[in-house]
Parts: sequence; C-alpha cells; structure tokens
Amino acid sequence: MSPHLGVLALQGAFREHRLRLEILGARVREVRLPADLEGLQGLVLPGGESTTIAGLMTAAGLWDPIRAFHAAGGALWGSCAGLILLAREVEGAPPQFGRQDRLALLDATARRNAFGRQADSFRVPLQIRGLDAPFPAVFIRAPVIERPGPSVEVLAEYGGRAVLVRQGRLLACAFHPELTADARLHELFLRLVAAPVPT
Ligand code: GLN
Repeated sequence: MSPHLGVLALQGAFREHRLRLEILGARVREVRLPADLEGLQGLVLPGGESTTIAGLMTAAGLWDPIRAFHAAGGALWGSCAGLILLAREVEGAPPQFGRQDRLALLDATARRNAFGRQADSFRVPLQIRGLDAPFPAVFIRAPVIERPGPSVEVLAEYGGRAVLVRQGRLLACAFHPELTADARLHELFLRLVAAPVPT
C-alpha cells in the first residue's frame, strides 16, 4: 500500500513537495485544518517564511493537533522554515514579533537566517551520511541547527554547522530538497514513514 502523507499547505513550497512525493508513489493530501491530519502517516512542513506559517497555524488551530499526530506515531519532516517550526528553541527571529511559536519537538535550536540575507542564498553539493554522491542543496535564507540533543543524529553539515538531522520519526533540513530534481531526501522520508513505529 502506498503511504498516505500530508503537506502543510498554508504558505511556502508545499506544491513542490506534494508533486515530488506523488511522483514517488505516495498519496498526498494538503493539510490546512486539524481534520486533514486524519489517517495520515507523515507530514511535511515546507520551507517558506516561518513567522507567517506560524501565524497561519495559530489561526487554523494546528499546533496541538500536529504534536498529537507525532506523539501517535506520525512522521514529520521540516525543510527550512519547517525546520524552524519543529525546533525546541528558535534564535535570530525579528524581535518585534516576540517569542516565535514552535512545535518544540526537535531537541535543538534553530538559528534563523544563519547564512545571511536573500542575496546570500546559494546552492552547494552536500555530503549526506548514507548517500553515495553529494546532494545538490539549495539554501535560501536558511537556518542552521545548533545544540542538538543526544537523540539527534546529524546527517549533514555545511561549514561545520548542522543542516540535516534525524531524531526518531522526525527529519529536519535547512535547505530545499523539493527545489531540485534529486529525489533522494524524499525517498529517505518515505523510508522513515515506512519504518515500524516504536511502541
Ligand atoms: N528565512 C526563513 C525563515 O526564517 C526561512 C527561509 C526558507 O524557508 N527558505 O522563516
């Protein structure tokens, strides 16, 4: 049976994630409301603008339902802004917005815009643990992952900073794998979804 996945579709690059997962054989539903999580095995939190997505998540009442979804075994993958939403702590947010809302499921700190502004966005061949050839990673006003806890496995670093991590049924990357033709990270997430849920 093909997995049934969701893509948080409030803002950002959700269409690209959806398309890629569908090409790989998954059934995909766009998630905008808590009821949309029903019956899914995994959820992608796309890149975009994390303060905007967070505000829309509050309006939709999605924070606790996504935490409950994960607690019940649902796999989560946050890319870029999605990583920021997963983190336990967030640094580098514009102070005028106050403390940034977040799911606080990934035991790490996300530092926003760690590589600078839009003009400092870049594409780089990235060595990823478990992959033979480098992955073409697109970084757009990307965060980095700091202070990963003991249960967080760092799968890739760029410039000595963690940019791809896994923690149980949770995957987080600082870059945009949905904006390249390379499907290997989406395949990795599908394997994580298919792995048995620990009881
Ligand atoms: N800089 C954005 C933020 O902090 C994230 C950028 C992205 O998702 N490409 O929300």
